[in-house]
This record gives sequence, C-alpha cells and structure tokens, in this order.
Amino acid sequence: MKRKKKVISFFSLLLIAIGAIYMKDIEEIFKENSPVQNREVEQTINLDNQSTVKVYFLDVGQADSILLENQGKYMLIDAGNNEDGPLLVNYFKSLNIETFDFVIGTHAHEDHIGGMDDIIENFAITTFYMPDAITTTKTFEDVLDALDDRSVAFQTPEIDGTFSFGDCKFQVLYVGDDASDLNDTSIVLRMLYGNHSFLFMGDATSKVEEKIIKKDLSSEVLKVGHHGSQYSTTSQFLEQVKPQYVIISVGKNNSYDHPKEATLNRIKNSGAKIYRTDEMGTIVATMDQTTLTFDMIQTNTNG
Ligand SMILES: [Zn+2]
Repeated sequence: MKRKKKVISFFSLLLIAIGAIYMKDIEEIFKENSPVQNREVEQTINLDNQSTVKVYFLDVGQADSILLENQGKYMLIDAGNNEDGPLLVNYFKSLNIETFDFVIGTHAHEDHIGGMDDIIENFAITTFYMPDAITTTKTFEDVLDALDDRSVAFQTPEIDGTFSFGDCKFQVLYVGDDASDLNDTSIVLRMLYGNHSFLFMGDATSKVEEKIIKKDLSSEVLKVGHHGSQYSTTSQFLEQVKPQYVIISVGKNNSYDHPKEATLNRIKNSGAKIYRTDEMGTIVATMDQTTLTFDMIQTNTNG
C-alpha cells in the first residue's frame, strides 16, 4: 500500500508538472499572440489614418458648415442656418459620429451657428471655440443655453495659438472681439497636413485679410471669406495665399447675389480652380500626405 501511494503521488506530481507546463504554454501563446494581433490592428489603423484626411464642405445653402475627419476623430467648423441643424444631426449620425473633438463657431451669425444648438444637444463635444463677441440674437442665446445644458465650456482661442487634430496641425491666424462687426470677429484657421494646407476664413473681410497679410498664408485650398462677397478675397490677399483650389460656400439664387462677379474674376486671375457648393452640392476633399482629390456627394443637409 505504501509503495502504491508513492506511485500515485509520483504520477500526481508528474500530472501537476505537465499541467503547469501546459498552462504556461497556453499563457505564453496567449501573451505572445494578443499583443501581436493588437500591433497588427494598430498598424492597420495608423496606416489608414495617416493616409486619409477628409474635409467636407457641406451644402447648407447660403451658409457654412465644414466637417473634418482624421484618425476616426471629427471636427466641425460652423453648423449652417437654423433649419439645417436637424439635417446636419441626421447626416452626422449616419456617419456614426458620436463625439466631436473640436466644434468651432467662426462667428455669431445665424448662417454659421444656426444649427449649432442641435449639434451641441446631440453630440459629445470635447472643445468648443467661438470668438468672445456677444450678441443678443435668439440664435446666439440658443447656443449659450445648449452649452449650459450640456456643460460644455465656451472657449475663445488665442491669436497665433495652435492645436492638433489627429495628424493635422491648426494655426489660429485671427479671432476678433468687436461685436459691432461680427463678420470680422471670425476665427480664421490654417490647417497643415503632410504636403497640404487649408485656409478657413469664416466670413472675414478684407479688413482681417490686411491684419494677417504678413503671416504665412500660403495654402493649397482656400475657403474664401463671406460666401464670395465683394468685401473679401482681395487680389493682394490671393497673392499671399496662392491657392490652387478655392471653395465658395454659397446658396443657389441667394438674395445677396453671392458670389460677386468681381470676386470671381479676382479668383480666376489668381489661377485657382473654383468649387462652389451651389453648383456642386457637398464637396469632399480627400487626401493622404501627398495626394488630394475632390468629389461631389449628396448629403441632404440644405434645409
Ligand atoms: Zn456667412
């Protein structure tokens, strides 16, 4: 009996040892495999992300709304008129957007922040920027109320400040605070990504163009100020920006007769190619570090 016990305990020990080795193997296989798999997934994501930035100049009629996408992150510059708000929300939800890393109201006019309360109410927002120029319109108060309800801070970026959005760098070229001329409070942004540069002018007029003319404005793509009005996009300004492509966000048959013929001629003389949302609908710029392509898509965002 004694001998049998010894044999049994010997086999028990052997089994435990084999079990331990086997478990260790499984553990190691598991340890080795999961990080490898993760690394592969991460690499795939990084390659994709570094290769694609999308800028949607959304068709919101006589208004502005620009969506940017990089590394699965989203940024919104302006939110169209009041009636565009629900349509923008639907469109962004169809893209499975839940959070905006940045939402920027370039200035407090209705055609830029009209739909902003809907955006604030329907999406998480990490950083919200607007100029520190207060007005008493219901549209602006709706934005403040929505920010308050959702505990999102109203922040104003500093001139010459920078921030990162995915692989894109943003420079704040201008922001005004004189509420007597809201257009010229517009937050003006220059985006740098790979070989590309974009200049987003909000509704800034030639007064702001003069203020920033000594800065490096060179940009492959220029979203002109104020829907192509005669008060923006001077020849001197175009000489500094040297755009290859000009985007005009403008409504069909709008009552302001934007874009003005004189402005269009100045842009044509600069040699830039003009893309207009009234003629093309939503315009999407898609780029990797070197290449840039433009597409037209239907978004049903014009209320
Ligand atoms: Zn405007």
